[in-house]
Amino acid sequence: MASRIGYNIEGKAEEILQRTSALWVPVPVDRVALGLNLRVEPAELGDDVSGVLVIEHGIGTIGYNATHPHVRQRFSVAHEIGHFVLHGTQRQLFIDKRYTAVYRRDRRSSTGDHRREVEANRFAAALLMPESLVLREIQDLDFDLADEQALAAFAARFQVSTHAMSLRLGHLRIFSEESQPG
Ligand SMILES: [Zn+2]
Repeated sequence: MASRIGYNIEGKAEEILQRTSALWVPVPVDRVALGLNLRVEPAELGDDVSGVLVIEHGIGTIGYNATHPHVRQRFSVAHEIGHFVLHGTQRQLFIDKRYTAVYRRDRRSSTGDHRREVEANRFAAALLMPESLVLREIQDLDFDLADEQALAAFAARFQVSTHAMSLRLGHLRIFSEESQPG
């Protein structure tokens, strides 16, 4: 059930990919950032911090954890791009710890912070795994989601984690090769 917000995030990510000429696999996330005048730098961050976004005078700089695996760094950068695009006028500093924390069900789950984190994650997934490219690539494969190796290979093609791809395919309702992409 795609909410209007979810739909807008999908559209926004696709629009940015087209505007920055970055709609290919694997999505060149650095090129997207560059196209948005965002600086991207490796940073020495605590192990529990994935990425940061600092906005000064409308100019954004993203720092990603230099020690994290490549696929996680890409997701972190995409997540921070999401904050810049979706929330940049609301705040000037974002510090992101383990993403799983934002999914915890607790009393804060209805706060603006939680909503922003969910939106940034949805944007990151849509940016790195745009529906149009996922559908196109999946058609080229003899792909069966039940096959973990095939799923891992498909995730590697997009340079995302297997977990991120699994969530994305579920969100896009692509459960088997019998699905008819609309
Ligand atoms: Zn965040």
